[in-house]
Amino acid sequence: MTATPDIPIAALLLELGFCSEAAQRIGRAALEAAKLTNPRKKNLTASKREAAEAAIASGVARCCGTSDCLPALIADTRPLAIVDRNACEICEGGRTAPAIRELGRALVRAGKQRLLLLGGVPGAHDELRRGLTGSGVELSVVDGTTTRPPAQARAWADAADLIVVWASTPLEHRVSLQFTRPEYRDKTMTVSRRGAGALAREVARAVRG
Ligand SMILES: [Zn+2]
Repeated sequence: MTATPDIPIAALLLELGFCSEAAQRIGRAALEAAKLTNPRKKNLTASKREAAEAAIASGVARCCGTSDCLPALIADTRPLAIVDRNACEICEGGRTAPAIRELGRALVRAGKQRLLLLGGVPGAHDELRRGLTGSGVELSVVDGTTTRPPAQARAWADAADLIVVWASTPLEHRVSLQFTRPEYRDKTMTVSRRGAGALAREVARAVRG
């Protein structure tokens, strides 16, 4: 039996886009907070790799630092690290637009053209709108901080083919409650990952079944 070699923590963080010293410090702190390592250690047992990636994902807001992406994470409660753009939660280094176009195709194929999105930030809404333009998908967005007149909420929810609750974004319970009544359960899904690209992939996967 060969033991899997340990992974240098700095190398793992670098691989996850934590290039600067400041970013490395923030990444390390998240691993320490998750009890995966302690300040004395340089290496991580290889078997903890997955847990480490999960701890980074849940413990650090990762941004490329551009003005397109920063506003989406500025109110995040997690410590913010400026990372390589491929590791940016918001733009994913440019992989977002293709993911949204693919979502458009998946929704049309599934006959779910009317998409109602609850929550999210304006930057993500713009990206989704841009990516869905011309796809045949009709995107309606509900700002998660303002309740709607009940009749309007009901009309929107009734008309939607798919209601996506974007958790982990500004979305107040009283707002989501308006659109997540039991009669809509079959056409409602919740996405907890951040970033328009991650949302697009998760919804596309769900409608493909
Ligand atoms: Zn970015």
